[in-house]
Amino acid sequence: MTLDTVTHFIGGAATASADGATMASVDPTSRTEWAVVSRGSARDVDHAVAAARHAFDTGPWPRMTPAQRSAVLHRLADLLLEHGDELALLDTRDMGRPLSMTRNNDVARSAANLRFFADDALSALDEALPGHPGHHIYTRHEPAGVVAAISPWNFPLMQATWKIAPALAHGNTVVLKPAEQSPASATRLAELAVRAGMPAGVLNVVHGVGPEGAGAALVAHPDVDLITFTGETRTGEAIMRAAATGVRAVSFELGGKGASLIFADADIDRAVAVAADAAFSNAGQICLAGSRVFVQRPVYEQVVEALAKTAAGLRLGDPRDPSTQVGPLSSEEHHAKVTGHLRRAAEEGATLLGGGPRDGWWVAPTVVVDVTADAAICRDEVFGPVLTVHPFDTEEEAVQAANATPYGLSAMVFTNHLARAHRVAGLLRAGNVWVNCFWIRDLRSPFGGFGRSGIGREGGRHSREFFTEAKTVVIDVT
Ligand code: NAD
Repeated sequence: MTLDTVTHFIGGAATASADGATMASVDPTSRTEWAVVSRGSARDVDHAVAAARHAFDTGPWPRMTPAQRSAVLHRLADLLLEHGDELALLDTRDMGRPLSMTRNNDVARSAANLRFFADDALSALDEALPGHPGHHIYTRHEPAGVVAAISPWNFPLMQATWKIAPALAHGNTVVLKPAEQSPASATRLAELAVRAGMPAGVLNVVHGVGPEGAGAALVAHPDVDLITFTGETRTGEAIMRAAATGVRAVSFELGGKGASLIFADADIDRAVAVAADAAFSNAGQICLAGSRVFVQRPVYEQVVEALAKTAAGLRLGDPRDPSTQVGPLSSEEHHAKVTGHLRRAAEEGATLLGGGPRDGWWVAPTVVVDVTADAAICRDEVFGPVLTVHPFDTEEEAVQAANATPYGLSAMVFTNHLARAHRVAGLLRAGNVWVNCFWIRDLRSPFGGFGRSGIGREGGRHSREFFTEAKTVVIDVT
């Protein structure tokens, strides 16, 4: 079988590693290599950052009007949709997400990311600060420079576009380092950007591993001005240390340990359906996943039974089959991590209702009960199709339990009591609270997490604040 080739994309051209090094991308469905990927070193990162620096310092992109940049980003969105089948298949082969989702959700959302930030930059305003006779004072937001964008594997194209769209719309140039597990769609994205009219060097892609590889070299590079990163909290700590040299700004979207709170007054059928989706969608490989479910005691047994039934009804299978709801986990290493958590929970006395490992790298959706809040499966981000269920009596107890985590990314509240919905939403320490729903997003809203779930917020004007340098100009008009 011939393997596909995925190269870096630097200065407007497909580029092999300077030392010729490669790595494999493994299809989690067949557990075989499907692509040979350029494996970047510090030399490739130097090359990519130099291309981005040159494009920023001397090229047209930062000097174009927002309307001109917006036109290019809209053309790129058109091309993503045109090449939707191909892009979706690349992500599905790289990390096993069902094709129905990569094709119908991720490609559309990626195009929407580009269109949203293209338009948002057009409508951005600066301020005039009146009240100073003799002086005219106003603000400007200028492109910040070379952005390092480091993305995870769980929604490869969607995460890449979420990072590059605001950076590019506001006139920066970018070096994107996708996760080593899911490199393919990023190179294709950069090729299409050139076809859309983006000047060479504005969007560069370097592949490679994180620690001691292209990722570490990129965040340590002195010519990188800003770092936007999505991934594990521990990786964020390492990147923050690197960013301290040169005092570079960081924006971090990190891990989560989301909670679903189901009150007895909720519409239970709906709560169960949404809470199961929040836990098992993308095989639980979602930072926002509601992996802990807290249920008010009068409906506890009913909810546990319904969650177990819903979990058992989800269809595992080949992610290319349109009827598949749960694909394999992204890698052998990740499969070992998730199944290790299940094994340890069982050894510690937890009851596993259905689910568990299947042949290959699948894990069937698993509902875990009889587990205390201090067990590893409740504390750690498992990032698999696994949820734990816990009873509670009072609202106060539920809020306290949901907040008893160093993370703070997402929480879902299920209740039909209006005042409770608002009260609990205000008490939960999470960057995103959904009431009787999950994952409804408005790209103008701030996205990010409390505590160890991140630093800063992206989305709408929040992205503009991060991806631009604000300046005050004072003019003597006497
Ligand atoms: P990861 O931290 O292992 O890797 C993410 C990226 O960082 C990869 O590109 C990797 O190569 C790179 N990297 C790793 N070490 C590095 C280093 N020392 N220096 C520079 N780069 C480095 O994360 P992952 O396993 O790819 O993704 C899963 C994690 O991402 C989960 O914790 C999940 O919660 C989180 N995530 C968060 C959000 C959010 O919006 N908060 C969204 C998606 C995923």
